[in-house]
Amino acid sequence: MWNIFGQPKAVDLLKSSVEQKRLSHAYLFIGPAHIGKGTLALKLAQAVNCPEEDPPCGVCALCSRIASGANSDIQIICLAPGAKEMGIDQVREAQHTASLKAFESKCRVFIIDGADRLSVEASNSLLKILEEPPNDVLLILTAVHKGQIMPTILSRCQIVELHPTAAPVIEKGLVNQWEVDAVKAKLFSRFCNGSIGWALMAYNDESVVEGRSETLDRIIDLTAASIGDRFAYAAQQATFFAQDKEAVFETLNLWIGWWRDLLLAKHRCHDLVTNIDRMDMLEKSSGKYDVAPIAGFIKRLDLAVRNLRRNANPRLALEILMLDIPKPHHGRRKEGATAASF
Ligand SMILES: [Zn+2]
Repeated sequence: MWNIFGQPKAVDLLKSSVEQKRLSHAYLFIGPAHIGKGTLALKLAQAVNCPEEDPPCGVCALCSRIASGANSDIQIICLAPGAKEMGIDQVREAQHTASLKAFESKCRVFIIDGADRLSVEASNSLLKILEEPPNDVLLILTAVHKGQIMPTILSRCQIVELHPTAAPVIEKGLVNQWEVDAVKAKLFSRFCNGSIGWALMAYNDESVVEGRSETLDRIIDLTAASIGDRFAYAAQQATFFAQDKEAVFETLNLWIGWWRDLLLAKHRCHDLVTNIDRMDMLEKSSGKYDVAPIAGFIKRLDLAVRNLRRNANPRLALEILMLDIPKPHHGRRKEGATAASF
C-alpha cells in the first residue's frame, strides 16, 4: 500500500516503475514544503526492498524497520539544525557507504532531504555518485524548488513533481481519514496551501496555527505602519532570509494570501478565501482599497518571490515591497468603477 494522500500521478509513476523493474538510479521529488516528499521517499525505499508480492506491503519486517528509521541501509541526509547548507562531509560519507554492499536490504537508499541546500562542494561530491551510480543504490533527492540545484545534478535525476491538493479534498480527507472535527478540518484545509503535511502538523500542534496567526497579524499591522516600521520589518526578514529562506517564502505566501483574500472579498467570492477566520476584517478592509492597487501589489509580491529565488538582494527586494503596499482610500467608492479598472 502506497497510501500517499493527494498525489495519485506521482504514486502511479513510481508504482509502475517498481512493478516493471524500470527504476532510475536517482529521483528528484519537487514540491512545496509539507506536501509529502519525505513520506513518498520512504514509501519508495520500502517498495524497492519489500519482499512481498505487492510492495510496499507496509507490514513486513523490512517495511516496518524502514518506516521507523531503524533500517541501516536507508539513510536520510538533511540540513543540521542551525546550518545554512549541507556540507561536503555529509555527502562524502554517503559516497563511501554507497560503495559497500547493503547490510539488511536488497537496495541501499539515500534520501537527500533538501537538495536545494547542498553546498557547491557537496553538490560536486553528489555528482560523482550520480555519474557512476553503484549497483543496488537508489538516490532520492527532495527539494522545494529546483532553481538552486546544479543543472548537472538535475539532468541525472528523474524529476517527480508533487502538486498542491485542492482545499475541499484535504478537508474531506482530514475528516474521513484522520477524524479531524469539521470546523478544524475546514480551517486547516484553507490554511495549508494544498499541503496535507501542514494541515496534520496544525492538527497535532496548536502552536503551528498560533504562529501563523501572529505572522498574519504583523502583516495586517504593516498596512497602517510608518515607513520606518516597514523598513525595520524588511531588515528583519532579510536577516531571517540568510538563515532560513523557506521560512521567509512561507511568510511571503501569507502576504500574497492576505491580499488575494481582500480581492476575493471585494468580489464576494467567499468560498475561495483562505483566511476564513478573518472574514469580518476582510469584508471591512476590502472596502478601503480599489481593485487595481490590490491586484498590482499581488503581482509585485509574486515578482519579489521569483526574484528572491533568483538570488536578488533580499533587503532591497523587501524594502521595495514595503514601499509598494497599497494605501487605503478614505470613504467608500463606487465598486463598479473600481471593478472596471481591473
Ligand atoms: Zn513489506
